[in-house]
Amino acid sequence: MTARVIDINEMHDDATFGVAEVEQVLEATPQEIAALGLCNDGRGGLVELFFSDEIPEIRRAKEICRMCPVQVACLDVALARREPCGVWGGQLFVSGKVLPVKRPRGRPPKHKEQLTA
Ligand code: SF4
Repeated sequence: MTARVIDINEMHDDATFGVAEVEQVLEATPQEIAALGLCNDGRGGLVELFFSDEIPEIRRAKEICRMCPVQVACLDVALARREPCGVWGGQLFVSGKVLPVKRPRGRPPKHKEQLTA
């Protein structure tokens, strides 16, 4: 299996993931699932985004996961592996567990509109 290289700016237009590709994912190994993921640009160019501590970047990584054809399989593998950090399958992992909401450092906000991821 080879990695699909997708331009992040054009991923909304990508309609090439069909039934054959879904069947492929169902029988894929974790390495093959990772190779099919949208975060795999073939150059490692999105690593910093998916392992960032910054809320806007975490949010962006989660957005990419929501469009990823292997999101469910990726999340299953990440949960099984207890990933220590990073965004996997649309979720932020910290110490092997999903962190539902990441809040900014410091005092709690006076207004609820403050950014969370
Ligand atoms: S679900 Fe997210 S982390 Fe997993 S392969 Fe897809 S883009 Fe990458």
